[in-house]
Amino acid sequence: MTESDVESLLRRPDIAAIEADNFPKHTPLKGVLLNDTRIVRFRAGDIVVREGDYGNSAFLVLEGSLRVVLAPELPQSLLGRQQTGKKGFFEALSQLWTNSTVPEVRDISRYQGQGLRGGSDSANARVFLQDVPAVLDRHRTAKLEDGALFGELAALGRVPRTATIFAEQEATLLEIRWQGLRELRKYDEGWRRMIDQRYRENALKTHLQESIMFSRLDENALQSVVDKVLFETYGAFDWNVAFQKQRQSGNAKEPVIARQGEYPDGVLMIRAGFARVSVKHGNGERTLTYLGAGDHFGLGELYAAWKNPDIPDIALYTTLTALGYVDVIRVPAPILEEHVFPFMEQPTSTTMDIASKPVADDAMMEWAVEERFINATRSMVIDLERCVRCDDCVRACASTHGGNPRFRRHGRTFDNIMVANACMHCADPVCMIGCPTGAIHRTVETGIVVINDLTCIGCATCANSCPYNNIAMVAIRTKDGHTIADPNTGKPIFKATKCDFCDSNPGGPACVRACPYGALRRVHFREFNPAGAG
Ligand code: SF4
Ligand code: SF4
Repeated sequence: MTESDVESLLRRPDIAAIEADNFPKHTPLKGVLLNDTRIVRFRAGDIVVREGDYGNSAFLVLEGSLRVVLAPELPQSLLGRQQTGKKGFFEALSQLWTNSTVPEVRDISRYQGQGLRGGSDSANARVFLQDVPAVLDRHRTAKLEDGALFGELAALGRVPRTATIFAEQEATLLEIRWQGLRELRKYDEGWRRMIDQRYRENALKTHLQESIMFSRLDENALQSVVDKVLFETYGAFDWNVAFQKQRQSGNAKEPVIARQGEYPDGVLMIRAGFARVSVKHGNGERTLTYLGAGDHFGLGELYAAWKNPDIPDIALYTTLTALGYVDVIRVPAPILEEHVFPFMEQPTSTTMDIASKPVADDAMMEWAVEERFINATRSMVIDLERCVRCDDCVRACASTHGGNPRFRRHGRTFDNIMVANACMHCADPVCMIGCPTGAIHRTVETGIVVINDLTCIGCATCANSCPYNNIAMVAIRTKDGHTIADPNTGKPIFKATKCDFCDSNPGGPACVRACPYGALRRVHFREFNPAGAG
């Protein structure tokens, strides 16, 4: 973005309407436009955002026209994703003797150009629709034109994109990074109203209805809740970058969302991300548990205050801090007193129960939170007391992936528990932010995070983002062992690889099935019980 780009942007009525005087000196509007936005041009057919992708930016249409695909969804193959489906029994069996002894062998005839590009030009590596008229014919779409804003809910709320949008004709868009979007919402009343209004209309109602607190409300009552709740975000969207540094320095910073001893003015509902619940303990804090999407904080205290008006100043029992980026909905107390408390029982306080346990019992939880393993939905944990280091798990993984193991039997340990370096298929998969071709994605059927080898251009954005170093970049080769090179640059082609939870294998993860001592498990960290099954 140049100074003259910013000047020409400021001449557009929708940008000129932003009140520059409301921006503080340290964050002037011009600075936000200069540093947190860029102008991007798309050709007809280019996919701008894909349904299911995670994104950290929103887009304002400056020129041209785009289409939102409403129904039916575009086939996964058109979005640059891999075709899913389990291997047949004989196919799964035959891989045991058809694997190559050369590592990372690829049949280049399958790439058809796309995946044979090197990663240096990731900004221009887009998946595009070859036949736009056919797509318009077969799918119901809505048009987006000059001045339309889209993608802001996914960018601020850290939730997947809800629709695929492509350029119908050549289009010029202003891409606004989440930081810029946050500043515009913070300092400009018009943008705040627009973003909040769209959020209330498009996402909030559904989210509230999923909560047991609001699921029984009729349409009118629900609407009055929707109108009054507040949205807040804590921490940095790209928390993984800071976390990687903090992990080395051991100096983590966690913004406080609510503090023990303060009077609660509402219930906090976590919409995305994770937050730590702790109590004061000596000069420090003791972690009791962590909260994720769908959990709430402060309900017990607010209910007790409402039920016992004679007891003054019932304060928060615990402190809530952001672990990374957290998107929170604050439901004000009067709303709960009117629509929820009269119809509910005293909520049980699990945090108080946990607080009465011996401190030693929390050590594992403390460790998992510090290491952010709480992000894991399918973490590979190995009980080192049972493991005899035979490496059968690694060999089974290699046999299932063309002779190439997709994890290392190595990782961080706590007592006898090791979390191996294998993709954990995170609840908050930061690796998926910024992949230029959408090659890394969640499968629709199982939610596993996989990489489409055919559309991966080896840019390493995902590998650099994974906070757990669970993605490896590998040079690909022909059957006879020669590295395959980019036809334009002559440089070796790399592909991103990682554990895919044996998604296409009929029997599930080969590593688990291969372990003769039952030492290896794949666990959701929330339900993980080191002593038993889970
Ligand atoms: S690659 Fe890393 S960030 Fe992505 S899902 Fe796996 S462990 Fe999580
Ligand atoms: S999967 Fe990773 S390496 Fe491949 S294109 Fe996407 S971000 Fe780049």
